[in-house]
Amino acid sequence: MIQKTHRLLITGGAGYIGSHIVMALKDTGASVLVVDNLSTGFRENLHYGDCVVLDLADRDRLNRCFHDFKPDAVLHIAGSIVVPESVRDPITYYYNNTMNSLNVIDACLNNRIGHFLFSSTAAVYGIPPEGICAESAPLCPINPYGHTKAMTERMLADTAEASSLRYVALRYFNVAGAHPSLQLGQRMPDATHLIKIIAQVITQKRASLSVFGTDYPTPDGTCIRDYIHVCDLADAHVRALDWLLSGGKSLTLNCGYSRGFSVNEVIKTAEDLYGPFPVTAADRRPGDPPQLIANADRIRSTLNWTPRYDGLSRIIQSAVEFEKSLL
Ligand code: UDP
Repeated sequence: MIQKTHRLLITGGAGYIGSHIVMALKDTGASVLVVDNLSTGFRENLHYGDCVVLDLADRDRLNRCFHDFKPDAVLHIAGSIVVPESVRDPITYYYNNTMNSLNVIDACLNNRIGHFLFSSTAAVYGIPPEGICAESAPLCPINPYGHTKAMTERMLADTAEASSLRYVALRYFNVAGAHPSLQLGQRMPDATHLIKIIAQVITQKRASLSVFGTDYPTPDGTCIRDYIHVCDLADAHVRALDWLLSGGKSLTLNCGYSRGFSVNEVIKTAEDLYGPFPVTAADRRPGDPPQLIANADRIRSTLNWTPRYDGLSRIIQSAVEFEKSLL
């Protein structure tokens, strides 16, 4: 279990997901150090622990930081997360995700840090034949973002074989929503994710929503995703850390609700809550698989993880309430 005496270092702790994890860690009383270059993170997201502004590409400073803080565990959450951006600019993604992860893993080895939590992604699966993937499914990414994360998973597995490092790789499905306190949420005005954009259209910060592709091999022709509330995801991290700090073995775990919604279904749910808004059909977006749904049996049985914020309406409502609070 995480104790008050534990020291936890989290990269990307000022970002959307990282900040929710820090907030969840607050309840444990552990010492938390956020390491963030604030490129996509925000100081307003920091409500607990200390923060060092540092770029993970700076290996010397990174190693010194790890040496000085002496963490019991590292949560490596920092990274670039936009699939279409990774298609346009893969090199930046290999630097920000793969190379910087290598630096973080190396700094752990240099400083004898044996517990590692990694934010991976469902994008490592590519186009799973049935659309629903268990962790044992082959990794066949179809975009650079997925490749950068799959490569980091490989580095972790190889490192764990060759050292005493143990890790949990959490494969996030589609993360959305905001903290119930509305202190935290997706702040990026130019975010590209569906539910954030819907929240912006509903609060009239954007004129309309484009549906990227209406001719996919799905029942209504639009892509299907498994949307998970960010607070349930943060709770999965706390449980995964408990697992590692209690001596648990290395694990790879899907984080989703095992239920898929099409883009049209997400729109319909939002319109039922807030009334109609402008929607236009657009071309497919490069790198998008038709369907991605988690088989989440493993995380439920291993970590005893039970979602508390399950429900698409709830996720959309929390994203919209947060968006309003940004007005
Ligand atoms: N999407 C869309 N319009 C938007 C943003 C997203 O139709 O403005 C679709 C996107 O093509 C995908 C789904 O919504 O099928 C989820 O995309 P998102 O960017 O939220 O997450 P991803 O699955 O790419 O990580």
